[in-house]
Amino acid sequence: MSALTPRPGIMKIAPYVPGKDSIDGKETIAKLSSNEGALGPSPKAMEAYAKAASELHRYPDGDTSKLRKAIGRHYGLDPARIVCGAGSDEILNLLVRAYCGPGDELLYSQYGFLMYAINALGVGATPVAAPAKDYGSDIDALLAAVTERTRIVCLANPNNPTGTYVTKDDVRRLHAGLPKNVLLIIDAAYAEYVSKNDYESGVELVDQAENVVMTRTFSKIYGLGGLRLGWMYGPAGIVDVMSRLRQPFNVNLAAQIAGIAALEDIAHTDASRTNNDIWLPWLSDELKKLGLAPLPSVGNFVLVGFGSKERAMAANDWLMNDGLIPRLVAGYGLPEHLRITVGTETEVKAVQASLARFVAAKK
Ligand code: PMP
Repeated sequence: MSALTPRPGIMKIAPYVPGKDSIDGKETIAKLSSNEGALGPSPKAMEAYAKAASELHRYPDGDTSKLRKAIGRHYGLDPARIVCGAGSDEILNLLVRAYCGPGDELLYSQYGFLMYAINALGVGATPVAAPAKDYGSDIDALLAAVTERTRIVCLANPNNPTGTYVTKDDVRRLHAGLPKNVLLIIDAAYAEYVSKNDYESGVELVDQAENVVMTRTFSKIYGLGGLRLGWMYGPAGIVDVMSRLRQPFNVNLAAQIAGIAALEDIAHTDASRTNNDIWLPWLSDELKKLGLAPLPSVGNFVLVGFGSKERAMAANDWLMNDGLIPRLVAGYGLPEHLRITVGTETEVKAVQASLARFVAAKK
């Protein structure tokens, strides 16, 4: 036996299992397992990426200054208060490493994004899940779960995998109820898809508080998951802490160049949003007509209830047999559900047709 022992907490981590990307012995018709942008990357981002090839011997801009400026311009934010990372996953990880340690607690909502608990265990902290209400984050339950050991509260808004969201007023209520020495991370990976009037991505709260950050990603509406690019907007003090902790060249050169081009291709982002605005409600309605239980979602995916674990597994196998890859979410404590990304018209229609045959076969 090895004499090496990892730090406490690490062996409690169940490794993150990403959505499947292929089906053994079958052609994939649609990969709908990772909430990736339905329309793929912007053609302008692809062009910029290709052009970057001749520069690959150069280190990237360690300060991501052009990218931060482009994000600032696009979202109306001060670039000095933006930090970029290799996916929002890296930003979330750095925040936990900066503000949480052994003996501390990181609080999140039941069915919240899996990486919150993994990040907490990775630094020897204790992940604490507050019970959800109707599958969504319950502000009262979160506030009731705060202890003197709580250092970070992670709120995915909208939440993956449930597609639920917390209203602007409720986010404020959560913040108002937290001690000032607790960091509130608003993980707004799917913000660009939300069209609710009572939703706010977190920008306004960040501007008013010292203990709030908002994280965002290029992996969803911008279709650049493969390049790993995310960012956060936060108070100057937290930006300073992040600049001390992060790796010097944490955002690769291709990601920086393609990210800027993706931001500038507003027509492509609009088309991606429109695709979701049309096909998310369509798919949800069709699944309801089939007697299934899709949760109301504001993201680019829908969590579908099948009534039992066995039926969800059977539906998973059925879809896979038709070349369609959904996401099993038993790891989130949702064994009776499947999560399905909203794809293109052809893809969502293939899902509907496949599940219609599944239901007709009395599965
Ligand atoms: N937050 C949420 C809620 C997510 O669903 C994801 C991706 N699955 C992430 C963060 C991380 O995204 P990325 O690292 O690709 O930016």
